[in-house]
Amino acid sequence: MSVLISANPRVQCKKCGRPATVRIRYAKLNLCSEHFTEYIEERVAKTIERYKMHSDLKKLLIGVSGGKDSMSLLYILSKLKSRYNIEIVCLHIDLGLNNYSEESKSIIIEASRELGIPCLIISLKDLIGYTLPELVEKSKRPPCSLCGMLKRYVLNLVGLEIGADAIALGHHLDDILSFALKDFLLQDLVDFSKMTPITPGIPGVAAKRIKPLYEVYESDLELYAKLKNIRVVGANCPFKYRDPITTSARKMLDELEEYAPGFKISLSRKLARNASRYVQGESIILCKYCGMPSSSGICGFCKLTMKVMGEPKGREAREKIRKLVDSSSFNN
Ligand code: AMP
Ligand code: ZN
Ligand code: ZN
Repeated sequence: MSVLISANPRVQCKKCGRPATVRIRYAKLNLCSEHFTEYIEERVAKTIERYKMHSDLKKLLIGVSGGKDSMSLLYILSKLKSRYNIEIVCLHIDLGLNNYSEESKSIIIEASRELGIPCLIISLKDLIGYTLPELVEKSKRPPCSLCGMLKRYVLNLVGLEIGADAIALGHHLDDILSFALKDFLLQDLVDFSKMTPITPGIPGVAAKRIKPLYEVYESDLELYAKLKNIRVVGANCPFKYRDPITTSARKMLDELEEYAPGFKISLSRKLARNASRYVQGESIILCKYCGMPSSSGICGFCKLTMKVMGEPKGREAREKIRKLVDSSSFNN
């Protein structure tokens, strides 16, 4: 975790000697703003290399929500792309959350133009005729699990259709550890086992997923976005909710980090080594309607669309996405 410090000529940046503006507690390092942002970019580069996220990676799809995490990820990866020789494309799924979605879209389009990264915006309403709030209303399912399932499904389809070697997500260190601890407390070992830096893909069925911010603290991303003047969505997601177990898990992890700075990073490295051992040979059955991965033979997307619209819409959604990708409806 890093904190802003007020300018004091006696506290100098370790790299350039100018007055430091940030104290990185876990690294016992004081840096100026410019060297702090460079430090975060290098942390991401080291994470990519530590977990070999760049091996066989030529084309990368980044899922961007408009929040500070995925916006910072977009900026950091656009800086690192030439080092690893990767082509980047980004995707925003417009869930139809009124002001929140409108603001997110405009921020993402502006940033992708500035960075010269092709950006695809897919609206859920155009794809299946309903926005997220309408689906919540019709299905009576909890918004966050519905939203997570829909985003995973659409990201995966786009990843497959554009031939991406991987999809990058903006989950950071604090997210990952608090979700892992929650899954452990609930003994939800299938989900726990997925808290790894890389989720391997299945050719033609599931795109590989990578988490380049696996070792980056949330507060560092906040500072990074602020110091880089990155525009992020100001409005809150109308469904934003953190369950009590994740909240307590996060509090406990924060206390341990306070007591031993760097605790979270070392825990993340152990988790990366061990998480996948908890569940081996999880069976994946392909959905009988759309051919995408499922645990029971019908995927979450087809189940939902059957319930709400009377028939499974997975295949139709893929067809629409294929057309969008073929007509290269990218924003630049
Ligand atoms: P969340 O489930 O909202 O915590 O998001 C996890 C990650 O999924 C984010 O860091 C993004 O990489 C990606 N993501 C979230 N929302 C969207 C969206 N609307 N469109 C595309 N990717 C998204
Ligand atoms: Zn400096
Ligand atoms: Zn399906």
